Amino acid sequence: MSKVSSVSKSGAAQPSDEMLRNREAALLAPYAMHSVDSRGREYPELPHPYRGPFQRDRDRIVHSAAYRRLSYKTQVFTNEMGDYHRTRLTHTLEVASIARTFGRALRLNEDLIEALALAHDIGHPPFGHAGEDTLNACLQDEGGFNHNSQALRIFRQLEVRYHEFPGLNLSVEVLEGQASRVDKTGHGRPSLLEVQVVDVADSIAYDTHDADDALESGLVSLETLLELPLWSEAADRVLDRRPGMTGDDLRRAVLHELIDSQVSDLLERGMALLAETAPESSTAARQAGIRLEPSRTLAEKKSQLEAFLHDRVYRHPLVMAQRRTAQAELRQMFELFVQRPELLPQKFRQQSEADGLSRSVADYLAGMTDRFIQQEFRRLFAN
Ligand code: MG
Repeated sequence: MSKVSSVSKSGAAQPSDEMLRNREAALLAPYAMHSVDSRGREYPELPHPYRGPFQRDRDRIVHSAAYRRLSYKTQVFTNEMGDYHRTRLTHTLEVASIARTFGRALRLNEDLIEALALAHDIGHPPFGHAGEDTLNACLQDEGGFNHNSQALRIFRQLEVRYHEFPGLNLSVEVLEGQASRVDKTGHGRPSLLEVQVVDVADSIAYDTHDADDALESGLVSLETLLELPLWSEAADRVLDRRPGMTGDDLRRAVLHELIDSQVSDLLERGMALLAETAPESSTAARQAGIRLEPSRTLAEKKSQLEAFLHDRVYRHPLVMAQRRTAQAELRQMFELFVQRPELLPQKFRQQSEADGLSRSVADYLAGMTDRFIQQEFRRLFAN
Protein backbone atom coordinates (compact mmCIF):
# COMPACT_ATOMS: atom_id res chain seq x y z
CA MET A 1 0.00 0.00 0.00
CA SER A 2 1.25 3.46 -0.91
CA LYS A 3 2.68 5.41 2.01
CA VAL A 4 1.72 8.77 0.54
CA SER A 5 -1.78 10.05 0.06
CA SER A 6 -3.34 8.85 -3.14
CA VAL A 7 -6.11 10.30 -5.24
CA SER A 8 -9.22 8.23 -5.91
CA LYS A 9 -11.12 8.11 -9.20
CA SER A 10 -13.49 10.76 -7.83
CA GLY A 11 -10.49 13.01 -7.20
CA ALA A 12 -10.84 12.95 -3.39
CA ALA A 13 -7.55 12.67 -1.49
CA GLN A 14 -7.22 9.43 0.49
CA PRO A 15 -5.11 9.39 3.63
CA SER A 16 -2.60 6.57 3.79
CA ASP A 17 -1.09 4.88 6.85
CA GLU A 18 1.40 7.74 6.91
CA MET A 19 -1.33 10.35 7.17
CA LEU A 20 -3.02 8.45 10.00
CA ARG A 21 0.32 8.17 11.77
CA ASN A 22 0.94 11.92 11.43
CA ARG A 23 -2.57 12.86 12.43
CA GLU A 24 -2.42 10.76 15.60
CA ALA A 25 1.13 11.88 16.40
CA ALA A 26 -0.14 15.48 16.36
CA LEU A 27 -3.38 14.87 18.30
CA LEU A 28 -2.69 12.03 20.71
CA ALA A 29 -0.42 11.82 23.72
CA PRO A 30 2.59 9.49 23.44
CA TYR A 31 0.97 7.14 26.01
CA ALA A 32 -2.21 6.78 23.90
CA MET A 33 -2.78 3.64 21.80
CA HIS A 34 -1.71 4.81 18.35
CA SER A 35 -3.37 3.01 15.43
CA VAL A 36 -0.06 2.29 13.70
CA ASP A 37 1.01 0.26 16.73
CA SER A 38 -2.06 -1.98 16.61
CA ARG A 39 -1.29 -5.70 16.59
CA GLY A 40 -3.84 -6.17 13.83
CA ARG A 41 -6.67 -8.68 13.39
CA GLU A 42 -6.97 -12.45 13.64
CA TYR A 43 -7.78 -12.63 9.90
CA PRO A 44 -5.44 -10.15 8.17
CA GLU A 45 -7.17 -7.48 6.09
CA LEU A 46 -5.88 -4.70 3.87
CA PRO A 47 -5.93 -1.25 5.47
CA HIS A 48 -8.94 0.87 4.61
CA PRO A 49 -8.10 3.87 2.38
CA TYR A 50 -9.59 6.48 4.72
CA ARG A 51 -10.62 4.85 8.00
CA GLY A 52 -8.19 3.81 10.71
CA PRO A 53 -8.40 0.32 12.28
CA PHE A 54 -10.25 1.38 15.45
CA GLN A 55 -12.65 3.53 13.45
CA ARG A 56 -13.49 0.42 11.44
CA ASP A 57 -13.97 -1.57 14.65
CA ARG A 58 -16.34 1.07 15.94
CA ASP A 59 -18.32 0.99 12.67
CA ARG A 60 -18.49 -2.81 12.66
CA ILE A 61 -19.92 -2.76 16.17
CA VAL A 62 -22.53 -0.11 15.32
CA HIS A 63 -23.64 -2.08 12.25
CA SER A 64 -23.94 -5.38 14.14
CA ALA A 65 -27.28 -7.00 14.99
CA ALA A 66 -26.18 -7.56 18.60
CA TYR A 67 -25.63 -3.80 19.03
CA ARG A 68 -29.05 -2.86 17.61
CA ARG A 69 -30.74 -5.35 19.91
CA LEU A 70 -29.46 -3.42 22.94
CA SER A 71 -32.34 -1.01 22.31
CA TYR A 72 -34.82 -3.61 23.61
CA LYS A 73 -32.70 -5.00 26.40
CA THR A 74 -33.10 -4.12 30.07
CA GLN A 75 -30.57 -2.04 31.96
CA VAL A 76 -32.30 -2.22 35.37
CA PHE A 77 -35.96 -1.46 34.70
CA THR A 78 -37.95 -3.47 32.18
CA ASN A 79 -40.05 -1.71 29.56
CA GLU A 80 -43.26 -2.45 31.52
CA MET A 81 -42.04 0.19 33.98
CA GLY A 82 -42.28 3.08 31.51
CA ASP A 83 -40.29 4.85 28.80
CA TYR A 84 -38.22 7.33 30.80
CA HIS A 85 -35.53 5.04 32.10
CA ARG A 86 -32.36 3.78 30.41
CA THR A 87 -32.25 0.77 28.17
CA ARG A 88 -29.03 -1.15 27.61
CA LEU A 89 -28.50 0.94 24.46
CA THR A 90 -28.96 4.38 26.01
CA HIS A 91 -26.76 3.30 28.94
CA THR A 92 -24.13 2.33 26.36
CA LEU A 93 -24.38 5.76 24.69
CA GLU A 94 -23.98 7.53 28.04
CA VAL A 95 -20.87 5.45 28.75
CA ALA A 96 -19.46 6.31 25.30
CA SER A 97 -20.15 10.01 25.89
CA ILE A 98 -18.42 10.12 29.30
CA ALA A 99 -15.54 7.95 28.06
CA ARG A 100 -14.95 10.30 25.12
CA THR A 101 -14.74 13.23 27.54
CA PHE A 102 -11.92 11.40 29.33
CA GLY A 103 -10.33 10.48 26.03
CA ARG A 104 -10.31 14.04 24.70
CA ALA A 105 -8.99 15.51 27.95
CA LEU A 106 -6.22 12.90 28.29
CA ARG A 107 -5.46 12.91 24.54
CA LEU A 108 -6.16 9.20 24.18
CA ASN A 109 -7.37 7.36 21.07
CA GLU A 110 -11.06 8.31 20.86
CA ASP A 111 -11.80 5.84 18.05
CA LEU A 112 -10.61 2.97 20.22
CA ILE A 113 -12.49 4.35 23.24
CA GLU A 114 -15.71 4.62 21.27
CA ALA A 115 -15.34 1.08 19.89
CA LEU A 116 -14.75 -0.30 23.39
CA ALA A 117 -17.59 1.69 24.96
CA LEU A 118 -20.17 0.81 22.31
CA ALA A 119 -19.15 -2.85 22.59
CA HIS A 120 -18.86 -3.18 26.37
CA ASP A 121 -22.39 -4.48 27.12
CA ILE A 122 -23.11 -6.20 23.81
CA GLY A 123 -23.06 -9.63 25.49
CA HIS A 124 -25.94 -8.87 27.84
CA PRO A 125 -28.83 -11.34 27.58
CA PRO A 126 -32.46 -10.18 27.90
CA PHE A 127 -33.62 -9.04 31.39
CA GLY A 128 -30.24 -7.64 32.49
CA HIS A 129 -28.42 -9.32 35.35
CA ALA A 130 -31.51 -11.41 36.17
CA GLY A 131 -31.19 -13.05 32.75
CA GLU A 132 -27.45 -13.44 33.16
CA ASP A 133 -27.85 -15.21 36.54
CA THR A 134 -30.39 -17.65 35.08
CA LEU A 135 -28.26 -18.55 32.05
CA ASN A 136 -25.27 -18.91 34.36
CA ALA A 137 -27.23 -21.41 36.48
CA CYS A 138 -28.43 -23.26 33.35
CA LEU A 139 -24.81 -23.64 32.18
CA GLN A 140 -23.22 -24.33 35.55
CA ASP A 141 -21.72 -27.63 34.42
CA GLU A 142 -20.38 -26.12 31.21
CA GLY A 143 -18.38 -23.12 32.28
CA GLY A 144 -21.31 -20.86 33.17
CA PHE A 145 -22.52 -17.71 31.43
CA ASN A 146 -21.07 -14.22 31.79
CA HIS A 147 -22.07 -11.21 29.69
CA ASN A 148 -18.48 -10.05 29.30
CA SER A 149 -17.33 -13.41 27.91
CA GLN A 150 -20.47 -13.58 25.78
CA ALA A 151 -19.43 -10.34 24.08
CA LEU A 152 -16.22 -12.09 22.97
CA ARG A 153 -18.26 -15.00 21.54
CA ILE A 154 -20.33 -12.48 19.58
CA PHE A 155 -17.23 -10.67 18.27
CA ARG A 156 -15.39 -13.85 17.30
CA GLN A 157 -18.12 -16.23 16.25
CA LEU A 158 -21.82 -15.47 16.64
CA GLU A 159 -22.21 -12.28 14.63
CA VAL A 160 -22.38 -13.19 10.94
CA ARG A 161 -21.52 -10.21 8.75
CA TYR A 162 -18.73 -11.24 6.43
CA HIS A 163 -18.18 -14.03 3.97
CA GLU A 164 -14.43 -14.17 4.57
CA PHE A 165 -14.39 -14.77 8.34
CA PRO A 166 -16.65 -15.53 11.31
CA GLY A 167 -17.55 -12.72 13.72
CA LEU A 168 -16.45 -9.11 13.28
CA ASN A 169 -12.68 -9.69 13.08
CA LEU A 170 -12.02 -6.77 15.45
CA SER A 171 -8.56 -5.47 16.31
CA VAL A 172 -6.61 -7.33 18.98
CA GLU A 173 -6.74 -4.24 21.25
CA VAL A 174 -10.57 -4.23 21.28
CA LEU A 175 -10.71 -7.98 22.02
CA GLU A 176 -8.12 -7.70 24.78
CA GLY A 177 -9.93 -4.72 26.26
CA GLN A 178 -13.15 -6.70 26.42
CA ALA A 179 -11.31 -9.76 27.78
CA SER A 180 -9.99 -7.65 30.66
CA ARG A 181 -13.61 -7.06 31.73
CA VAL A 182 -14.06 -10.79 32.34
CA ASP A 183 -11.49 -10.88 35.13
CA LYS A 184 -11.88 -7.68 37.12
CA THR A 185 -9.74 -8.66 40.08
CA GLY A 186 -7.21 -6.02 39.01
CA HIS A 187 -4.31 -8.44 39.28
CA GLY A 188 -1.59 -8.27 36.69
CA ARG A 189 -0.64 -5.45 34.37
CA PRO A 190 -3.19 -2.65 34.02
CA SER A 191 -5.05 -2.42 30.72
CA LEU A 192 -4.53 0.24 28.05
CA LEU A 193 -5.67 3.67 29.28
CA GLU A 194 -8.43 3.59 26.63
CA VAL A 195 -9.81 0.42 28.24
CA GLN A 196 -9.57 1.93 31.72
CA VAL A 197 -11.51 5.09 30.83
CA VAL A 198 -14.40 2.98 29.52
CA ASP A 199 -14.49 1.10 32.84
CA VAL A 200 -14.63 4.25 34.93
CA ALA A 201 -17.15 5.85 32.58
CA ASP A 202 -19.38 2.77 32.94
CA SER A 203 -19.34 3.11 36.72
CA ILE A 204 -20.05 6.87 36.64
CA ALA A 205 -22.90 6.35 34.16
CA TYR A 206 -24.74 3.56 36.00
CA ASP A 207 -24.29 4.95 39.51
CA THR A 208 -25.83 8.23 38.33
CA HIS A 209 -28.54 7.08 35.94
CA ASP A 210 -29.78 4.17 38.04
CA ALA A 211 -30.47 6.65 40.85
CA ASP A 212 -32.20 9.00 38.38
CA ASP A 213 -34.34 6.15 36.99
CA ALA A 214 -35.22 4.99 40.51
CA LEU A 215 -36.37 8.55 41.34
CA GLU A 216 -38.48 8.75 38.19
CA SER A 217 -40.06 5.36 38.90
CA GLY A 218 -40.91 6.48 42.43
CA LEU A 219 -38.89 3.67 44.03
CA VAL A 220 -36.86 6.17 46.09
CA SER A 221 -37.30 9.83 46.99
CA LEU A 222 -34.91 12.73 46.46
CA GLU A 223 -34.88 13.29 50.23
CA THR A 224 -33.63 9.73 50.82
CA LEU A 225 -30.89 10.06 48.21
CA LEU A 226 -29.83 13.38 49.76
CA GLU A 227 -28.97 11.47 52.94
CA LEU A 228 -26.02 9.95 51.05
CA PRO A 229 -22.80 12.02 51.22
CA LEU A 230 -22.19 11.84 47.44
CA TRP A 231 -25.64 13.31 46.76
CA SER A 232 -25.77 15.80 49.66
CA GLU A 233 -22.35 17.27 48.84
CA ALA A 234 -23.30 17.60 45.15
CA ALA A 235 -26.55 19.32 46.22
CA ASP A 236 -24.57 21.70 48.49
CA ARG A 237 -22.36 22.74 45.58
CA VAL A 238 -25.43 23.25 43.35
CA LEU A 239 -27.21 25.30 46.04
CA ASP A 240 -24.11 27.44 46.58
CA ARG A 241 -24.40 28.48 42.94
CA ARG A 242 -28.22 28.55 42.80
CA PRO A 243 -29.63 29.13 46.31
CA GLY A 244 -33.24 28.06 46.82
CA MET A 245 -33.37 25.48 44.02
CA THR A 246 -35.77 22.61 44.83
CA GLY A 247 -37.68 19.65 43.36
CA ASP A 248 -37.05 18.53 39.78
CA ASP A 249 -34.76 21.51 39.07
CA LEU A 250 -32.55 20.48 41.96
CA ARG A 251 -32.64 16.82 40.92
CA ARG A 252 -31.50 17.60 37.37
CA ALA A 253 -28.78 19.98 38.54
CA VAL A 254 -27.49 17.43 41.08
CA LEU A 255 -27.33 14.73 38.37
CA HIS A 256 -25.19 17.01 36.17
CA GLU A 257 -23.01 17.87 39.14
CA LEU A 258 -22.57 14.19 40.04
CA ILE A 259 -21.23 13.29 36.61
CA ASP A 260 -19.11 16.41 36.37
CA SER A 261 -17.55 16.06 39.81
CA GLN A 262 -16.71 12.37 39.33
CA VAL A 263 -15.17 13.03 35.91
CA SER A 264 -13.15 15.95 37.36
CA ASP A 265 -11.92 13.86 40.31
CA LEU A 266 -10.67 11.13 37.99
CA LEU A 267 -9.17 13.56 35.48
CA GLU A 268 -7.29 15.51 38.14
CA ARG A 269 -5.68 12.37 39.54
CA GLY A 270 -5.10 10.86 36.10
CA MET A 271 -3.49 13.98 34.66
CA ALA A 272 -1.21 14.39 37.70
CA LEU A 273 -0.13 10.75 37.49
CA LEU A 274 0.55 10.94 33.75
CA ALA A 275 2.45 14.24 34.09
CA GLU A 276 4.60 12.74 36.83
CA THR A 277 5.30 9.43 35.09
CA ALA A 278 5.36 10.80 31.51
CA PRO A 279 5.15 7.40 29.81
CA GLU A 280 6.51 7.50 26.27
CA SER A 281 4.16 4.89 24.84
CA SER A 282 0.99 2.93 25.63
CA THR A 283 3.22 -0.01 26.61
CA ALA A 284 5.27 2.18 28.94
CA ALA A 285 2.05 3.41 30.62
CA ARG A 286 1.04 -0.20 31.29
CA GLN A 287 4.51 -1.15 32.50
CA ALA A 288 4.48 1.84 34.87
CA GLY A 289 1.29 0.37 36.38
CA ILE A 290 -0.80 3.50 35.76
CA ARG A 291 -4.37 2.98 36.95
CA LEU A 292 -7.11 5.53 36.44
CA GLU A 293 -9.13 5.32 39.62
CA PRO A 294 -11.28 7.63 41.72
CA SER A 295 -9.69 9.19 44.81
CA ARG A 296 -10.16 7.22 48.03
CA THR A 297 -12.81 9.67 49.31
CA LEU A 298 -14.80 9.46 46.08
CA ALA A 299 -14.47 5.67 45.98
CA GLU A 300 -15.91 5.44 49.53
CA LYS A 301 -18.86 7.67 48.67
CA LYS A 302 -19.51 5.72 45.47
CA SER A 303 -19.59 2.44 47.35
CA GLN A 304 -22.11 3.91 49.82
CA LEU A 305 -24.31 4.89 46.87
CA GLU A 306 -23.84 1.46 45.29
CA ALA A 307 -24.83 -0.31 48.53
CA PHE A 308 -27.92 1.92 48.68
CA LEU A 309 -28.82 1.16 45.04
CA HIS A 310 -28.33 -2.55 45.67
CA ASP A 311 -30.63 -2.65 48.71
CA ARG A 312 -33.24 -0.06 47.78
CA VAL A 313 -33.43 -0.24 43.99
CA TYR A 314 -32.04 -3.50 42.55
CA ARG A 315 -33.71 -5.45 45.43
CA HIS A 316 -36.90 -3.36 45.51
CA PRO A 317 -39.99 -5.67 45.74
CA LEU A 318 -41.28 -4.36 42.38
CA VAL A 319 -37.97 -5.02 40.63
CA MET A 320 -37.65 -8.40 42.37
CA ALA A 321 -41.15 -9.46 41.25
CA GLN A 322 -40.26 -8.68 37.63
CA ARG A 323 -36.96 -10.45 38.07
CA ARG A 324 -38.68 -13.65 39.24
CA THR A 325 -41.11 -13.66 36.30
CA ALA A 326 -38.31 -12.99 33.80
CA GLN A 327 -36.09 -15.70 35.27
CA ALA A 328 -38.89 -18.29 35.26
CA GLU A 329 -39.67 -17.55 31.59
CA LEU A 330 -36.03 -17.70 30.57
CA ARG A 331 -35.47 -21.00 32.38
CA GLN A 332 -38.56 -22.57 30.80
CA MET A 333 -37.38 -21.43 27.37
CA PHE A 334 -33.93 -22.89 28.01
CA GLU A 335 -35.40 -26.25 29.08
CA LEU A 336 -37.80 -26.35 26.14
CA PHE A 337 -35.05 -25.84 23.54
CA VAL A 338 -32.77 -28.39 25.23
CA GLN A 339 -35.60 -30.94 25.15
CA ARG A 340 -36.73 -30.03 21.64
CA PRO A 341 -33.69 -28.80 19.66
CA GLU A 342 -35.74 -29.04 16.45
CA LEU A 343 -37.37 -25.76 17.55
CA LEU A 344 -34.04 -23.92 17.34
CA PRO A 345 -33.21 -21.89 14.23
CA GLN A 346 -30.99 -23.86 11.87
CA LYS A 347 -27.91 -21.76 12.60
CA PHE A 348 -27.96 -22.76 16.28
CA ARG A 349 -28.83 -26.42 15.60
CA GLN A 350 -25.80 -26.60 13.35
CA GLN A 351 -23.62 -24.78 15.86
CA SER A 352 -24.66 -27.22 18.63
CA GLU A 353 -22.77 -30.02 16.86
CA ALA A 354 -19.49 -28.28 17.66
CA ASP A 355 -20.35 -26.25 20.78
CA GLY A 356 -22.86 -28.52 22.53
CA LEU A 357 -26.59 -28.06 22.79
CA SER A 358 -26.77 -26.15 26.11
CA ARG A 359 -24.24 -23.54 25.00
CA SER A 360 -25.98 -23.05 21.66
CA VAL A 361 -29.39 -22.68 23.33
CA ALA A 362 -27.87 -20.09 25.68
CA ASP A 363 -26.34 -18.25 22.69
CA TYR A 364 -29.75 -18.17 21.00
CA LEU A 365 -31.58 -16.97 24.11
CA ALA A 366 -28.87 -14.45 25.04
CA GLY A 367 -29.18 -12.83 21.62
CA MET A 368 -32.91 -12.19 22.13
CA THR A 369 -34.31 -8.84 23.20
CA ASP A 370 -36.71 -8.65 26.17
CA ARG A 371 -39.52 -8.04 23.72
CA PHE A 372 -38.72 -10.98 21.46
CA ILE A 373 -38.28 -13.50 24.25
CA GLN A 374 -41.62 -12.46 25.75
CA GLN A 375 -43.32 -12.88 22.35
CA GLU A 376 -41.69 -16.26 21.85
CA PHE A 377 -42.61 -17.34 25.36
CA ARG A 378 -46.28 -16.51 24.72
CA ARG A 379 -46.19 -18.30 21.37
CA LEU A 380 -44.45 -21.46 22.62
CA PHE A 381 -46.30 -21.73 25.92
CA ALA A 382 -49.69 -20.57 24.61
CA ASN A 383 -51.58 -23.32 26.42
MG1 MG B 1 -22.29 -1.11 31.25
